[in-house]
Amino acid sequence: MASNTRKVRIGDVEIGGGNPVAVQSMTNSKTENIKETVAQIKELEEVGCEIVRVAVPNRKAIAAIPKIKKNIKIPLIADIHFHWEYAVEAIEAGADKIRINPGNIGKLDLVAKVIEKAKEKDIAVRIGVNSGSLHPKYSKEKDIAKALVKSCIEYVNFCEKLKFKNLVLSVKSSSVIDSINAYRMLASETNYPLHLGITESGSLMSGTIKSSVGLGVLLASGIGDTIRVSLSADPVHEVHVAFQILQALGLRSYGPEIISCPTCGRCDIDVIPVVEEIEKQLMKVRVPIKVAVMGCVVNGPGEAREADIGVAGGKKEGVLFKGGKALRRISTSNMAEELMAEIKKLIEDIEKTKEKE
Ligand code: SF4
Repeated sequence: MASNTRKVRIGDVEIGGGNPVAVQSMTNSKTENIKETVAQIKELEEVGCEIVRVAVPNRKAIAAIPKIKKNIKIPLIADIHFHWEYAVEAIEAGADKIRINPGNIGKLDLVAKVIEKAKEKDIAVRIGVNSGSLHPKYSKEKDIAKALVKSCIEYVNFCEKLKFKNLVLSVKSSSVIDSINAYRMLASETNYPLHLGITESGSLMSGTIKSSVGLGVLLASGIGDTIRVSLSADPVHEVHVAFQILQALGLRSYGPEIISCPTCGRCDIDVIPVVEEIEKQLMKVRVPIKVAVMGCVVNGPGEAREADIGVAGGKKEGVLFKGGKALRRISTSNMAEELMAEIKKLIEDIEKTKEKE
């Protein structure tokens, strides 16, 4: 379901207004370390990241913005807290968008200076209200979701008074339920594009679960124009998980879908290392094929036949399927290699056909 929000441009990426939900991540290098930051952004670009955010906590980071931008392809967002001057200077330095939490910028006349600069340079601003840094006046509000939305709307109204509507909004909480409630409320009250995220969601495992549940519920009901999966892990995983969420919901096509069984006492082949190896090797592949790795004859042949390529376990060997037909038997000793060789052939054929079209 496409979101029917205002269109906002971030560099050459458009979000909102029915555009595909864009995937963001954030670097965890020191932004002023240009070499490391550029290298990290290039890795993110390689796995499909469409917009990147960098922390701007000092003037060295501001000075790095133009140098980083020269070496990357995707739009860059400057993330600023506390210092309105840094926000103004980051815009001057060429940031494609800035993210502020007006609550920690301070007085509204200082926020106004940032908005006026964004208006002058025609760049978008994300009003990012977080449960961890809500304005003190909402500290007594028991309903965090309501407090997040009230605070966000207050800043939206302020920006609109300044005739500035180039806005993206977020109301993140580390609680999945509060985030869902807040975004639902916000989506019913405004039509600005929404940046979704569950903040500080945790490690690769717990963050993936919390983000998948929270973002999944919202995206499935048509809420959300851009997403970031926050993980205490390599940011590359954030991009993979974000696209996997979108692919699972049928909102974006990202790459191969791997169907594999959980294994049980009937399992005749070593499914887990085969799946792990295939997943690792297909990490950078963007061709949307279905690969099945199934442990026995109960569901194996059916799933393997349904997939583009599949293997179903039998007694100390597997049966390789391609395009719905059984091709040959393969030994358990080199199952991953044989399967991968067939997958590569299929990908080459698909790419050749595409080139001819
Ligand atoms: S496909 Fe076979 S091995 Fe895998 S979970 Fe099902 S019954 Fe068990």
